[in-house]
Amino acid sequence: MLTIKCAKCKRKLFKYHKIGNGSVIKCHKIRIKQVYQLNKNYQMFSCACGNNIGKDEGSFIKMNRTGFTYSGTKE
Ligand SMILES: [Zn+2]
Repeated sequence: MLTIKCAKCKRKLFKYHKIGNGSVIKCHKIRIKQVYQLNKNYQMFSCACGNNIGKDEGSFIKMNRTGFTYSGTKE
C-alpha cells in the first residue's frame, strides 16, 4: 500500500493499492483505499494547499507527476 502525499506541503492525500512496479501515473479509483484529504474542483484534484494533484478521468485519476510523492511498498 502506498501513501500518496502532496509534494509541496507533505500532507497525506490518500492510500493507494499499487499493483506492478511501474511509476504512479494513473490511480485507479477502485484501488484508493482511504482518502485523508483531497479537494475536487471541476475535473481537477488538488491538495488543501492548492497544489495540483491530478485530473479526474472517470475510473482513474491521471496524476500530475510533479505534484505528489509517495511512501510505502508496491505489491
Ligand atoms: Zn499540499
